[in-house]
Amino acid sequence: MPGPPPSVLDPWLKDEPLACPCGRAHRLGRREVLLGRGALDGVADAVGRAAGPRASLLLVADPDTFAAAGARVARDLARAGHPLRGSVFPAAPHADDAALSWLRERLGGGAAPDAIVAVGSGTINDLGKALAAELAVPLVTVATAASMNGYLSPIAALTVGGLKVTVPAEPARALVVDLDVLAAAPRQLAAAGFGDLCSKPVSGADWVLASWLSGEAPCPVALSVADEAVARARAAAAGIAAGEGEALAALAEALLLSGISMMLAGTSAPASGGEHLVSHYLDMSAAGWERAPYLHGEQVAVGTLASLSLYRRLFDAAGRPAPDAPAPDDPPGPAFDALHAHLDEAARAELEREAAAKRELAGGRGPRAVRAAAGWDALAERLAPLLSARRGLDDDLAAAGTPVRFAAIDVTRPRAAHALRAARHLRRRYTVLDLASDLGWLDAWADEIAEELA
Ligand SMILES: [Zn+2]
Repeated sequence: MPGPPPSVLDPWLKDEPLACPCGRAHRLGRREVLLGRGALDGVADAVGRAAGPRASLLLVADPDTFAAAGARVARDLARAGHPLRGSVFPAAPHADDAALSWLRERLGGGAAPDAIVAVGSGTINDLGKALAAELAVPLVTVATAASMNGYLSPIAALTVGGLKVTVPAEPARALVVDLDVLAAAPRQLAAAGFGDLCSKPVSGADWVLASWLSGEAPCPVALSVADEAVARARAAAAGIAAGEGEALAALAEALLLSGISMMLAGTSAPASGGEHLVSHYLDMSAAGWERAPYLHGEQVAVGTLASLSLYRRLFDAAGRPAPDAPAPDDPPGPAFDALHAHLDEAARAELEREAAAKRELAGGRGPRAVRAAAGWDALAERLAPLLSARRGLDDDLAAAGTPVRFAAIDVTRPRAAHALRAARHLRRRYTVLDLASDLGWLDAWADEIAEELA
C-alpha cells in the first residue's frame, strides 16, 4: 500500500518520544493525517493501515455528514473488503450520553468492531472518540468541516447527566481531511472553527495563570506549537469567510496543530480556558433558557472576547490589587445553585467535587488573592507575550464571519452576565474568571462586559 503524502504535521505523528525543554519525553503515538484536496481517495488505504486490511468497521455519521462524505467512504470501504456496519443517526445528535447509548444499541450483543470510522466534525468526532475508547479499538476520523480543534485532541467533550465534561480519549489513529469536502461544508462551520482557534491568546494565558498558581511551568512547546499556524489562519480570515481553498487549508492546519498542543500537554489546557467554560455553560443552560445552542466555536469566540475584556480590566485598567482586598471565603452562591436545575444526581455530585476542588485550590480564595497582589508585576510580565496576540482579534473574527457579540448567539444581556459569573464553577481549572472573582471584581465586571459585548 502506498504511504501517505508528507505533511507539516509529520514530526508530531511519530511513535517516538520527543525530548522537550519542559523535561518530559512526550510520546504522541504514531498517527497518520491525510490533508489536502482529494484526500478522501486515500481513506480505504488509511483504514487498512490503521486497523488492518479486512478489519470490521462501525461507521458513525449523521444525515448531513453521511451526504457530505459518509456514503462515499462506506462505498470505498465495502469495495476494499471491510465488513461494515453503519450507524447513521436519524437526525443530528448532541455529544451526550443519549447519543452514546444509541450507538451502543446499534452494536447489539454482537462482537465489537475492529475499528470505528467517524465521518463528521465536532459532535460525531467526540462520539466516535468516546465509543472507540470504551471499546478499546482504534478510531479513524473523516473530517467534514474545519469547525473545531478536537480532531487530534486527547479528550472528548460530552454532556453526561446534564453536565458538560471532558473525558480522556485517544485521538484518531488516522485522520482524513479532504479540502474539497471542507470547502463544500456550510461556511458557518469554518467560521466557528476559526472562533475555536482564536481562543488561543486567552486559553494560553489562562494556562500560564493556572501554572503560576500551581508552581508547575507549562510546556513551552505545547504553548507555542500552533502559534505560527494560528497567525497564518488569522491572516486568511477573509478567505475563510469566502470559503477559499488556501484559507481553509491554513485553518485546518492550525486546528490540527492546536489539537497537537493538547496532546503535548496531555490536557486541553493550552486551548481551553475560561472562554470554553462560558461556552459549556451556554450549552448546559440552553434547554432551560429555551435557546438553541450555537456552534461550539461561535460561543467560544464571544467567550474569548469576554475573557480578553477581563484581562484588559485586570492588567491594563485596574492595576495592582490591594494586598488585603479579597473577601475571606468564596461561597458559590446563587450562580452555582442555578446550575443544578438540569443535572442528574451523579452530575450534581461531580459538579460539587469540581467546585470544592477549585475553592480549595492553592489554599483558598484569600491566600490566592494575596499571592496575586504580591506577585502582580511578575504575573503581568508572564502573561504579556500571550496577550499580545489579542491585537485585532475582534476584527479578525468579524472578517471570518464569526459572532463577536452575545446577541449574535442569542444570549440576552442578563444571561450573558449570569454565564460570566457562573461558568467558572464548572471545572476546577483556574482561569481569568477565577482571578477576577478572587480579587472581588467579577460580579461588577460581568455586568459591564455583558453590556460591552451585548
Ligand atoms: Zn474548543
